[in-house]
Amino acid sequence: MLASDVHFAKDLADALDIQRRRPGILVFAGGTDILREQGGRGISLPAELLCIQSIPELRRAGLTERFLEIGAAVTVAELLELGDSALPPLLAEAVRGIGTPAVRNLATLGGNISCRSRFMDSWPALACLDGLVELRDQGGATWMNVNRLLGEDGKPSVPVGGLLTRVRIPLDRWDVHALRKVGPRSYPTPETAVFAFAARAEKGILAEVRIAFAGEIGLRSQALESSIIGRSLPLSSREATSIAEGYKSLAEPLPEGLALQFGSLLDGALGLLSS
Ligand SMILES: Cc1cc2nc3c(=O)[nH]c(=O)nc-3n(C[C@H](O)[C@H](O)[C@H](O)COP(=O)(O)OP(=O)(O)OC[C@H]3O[C@@H](n4cnc5c(N)ncnc54)[C@H](O)[C@@H]3O)c2cc1C
Repeated sequence: MLASDVHFAKDLADALDIQRRRPGILVFAGGTDILREQGGRGISLPAELLCIQSIPELRRAGLTERFLEIGAAVTVAELLELGDSALPPLLAEAVRGIGTPAVRNLATLGGNISCRSRFMDSWPALACLDGLVELRDQGGATWMNVNRLLGEDGKPSVPVGGLLTRVRIPLDRWDVHALRKVGPRSYPTPETAVFAFAARAEKGILAEVRIAFAGEIGLRSQALESSIIGRSLPLSSREATSIAEGYKSLAEPLPEGLALQFGSLLDGALGLLSS
């Protein structure tokens, strides 16, 4: 058995310095996804790991009037402890559905967003809420909308080589929202996916609508959403049907079972906007 060299960064500058000196070193946050597929007696890890759980800058959460900011190494359990007055309901519902209590105690929000093999449960909610992630490397810091983590092939497109440090979520008002997890709930399988929906009206007109669905493949179309905005509420059943038709081609890359579930969740969400 080979031992791994584990580097415990004491602060953010230290972590970035370790990454500069050891390009390609594996970032280890809660480790729950890194170790997820390793059910055997031994575990296999790369030669070098960068542990980020104790970096103070990544362990903070703060609330302003306009947004909630969460350090990447804040665990899912800690996030839930912030309570319903601080957490946007869509995000709270998404993270409540992650794994088991034991997993939630270790799993971090940054790790949930950074998984490359598939979308994890927080992405659809963060995509609807227009969440931003701060990515840092030696070149400095960049804020990126989480929607940009959806690649053109529908798979996660998480930048390689840096550190996701903070997640910023605007505290917008939403009049209706819905979040549903489909497939096995406490472990990510090919049949597991999360649907998120949020909408806001101004004077009887649909002012904003967001719809995201993700599992192994992610779906979000700002073009389709823009085509719905501006309609009078409630939507007629003819309008709801034509909007659902528009989403059919977006769902084409999904396996049949998930496409059907997406269709019925979308119908349910549009039902919230209809008479
Ligand atoms: C039994 C079990 C059940 C689970 N159920 C669910 C579930 O229901 N829903 C769900 O969404 N997930 C689930 N997971 C997957 C996993 O627990 C979560 O996705 C978790 O949030 C990952 O966070 P982590 O801190 O453990 O990430 P890690 O495993 O430490 O890292 C995951 C990936 O992200 C990278 N990474 C981590 N943090 C950063 C960072 N700050 N910057 C850059 N890269 C980073 C790592 O290098 C790695 O590639 C489950 C896992 C297990 C073992």
